[in-house]
Amino acid sequence: MAFKLPKLPYDYKALEPHVDAKTMEIHYGKHHAGYTAKLNAAIKDTPLAKKKIEDILKKASKHGAGVRNNGGGFYNHSLFWSVMSPNGGGEPKATTKLGKAMAKSFKSYDAFKAEFSAAAGTRFGSGWAWLCARKSGGLFITSTPNQDNPLMDCAEKKGTPILGLDVWEHAYYLNYQNRRPDYVAAFFNVINWDEVSKRYNKATK
Ligand code: MN
Repeated sequence: MAFKLPKLPYDYKALEPHVDAKTMEIHYGKHHAGYTAKLNAAIKDTPLAKKKIEDILKKASKHGAGVRNNGGGFYNHSLFWSVMSPNGGGEPKATTKLGKAMAKSFKSYDAFKAEFSAAAGTRFGSGWAWLCARKSGGLFITSTPNQDNPLMDCAEKKGTPILGLDVWEHAYYLNYQNRRPDYVAAFFNVINWDEVSKRYNKATK
């Protein structure tokens, strides 16, 4: 069974001015659609075609570059769209399981923001910044190159990604050109903490 490009949960202009409509259209319609099609081509008529994407990624290093890059691209962008919302921003609710874990792991929201921004800003070239959960409930921030992610066996730090930020130039260049820090700063205005919270609960139950 082939993987399907998930429906975008809002329209292209919904995240403006933080993410512009043209970038959304190309990023979703060309890049994400491209990773999905290439993943499907790479696993066609192989045993991987019957597996869940998470299980494929857990052994990414064994499956070759086509599956690693396009499987990562498929998964990472599916997560990325879901953790943004036109009604996003603010801070995770302090009374939720996620809110409590954030307070424990990062002391303050500003400290979290600074560490996440640094991870996104210092990732050289193309890649992603992540907030991840450990099964035990702890949280940590990391970044990965290219379309890798922390589910992969080849990741430097492994955990379940619950928030991700795409720092490939294709994610921001039309609107921000070389100003990655401005794009990273704008991201905090659209984070969908309800979705991140759901992902945290699922990762730690
Ligand atoms: Mn991308």
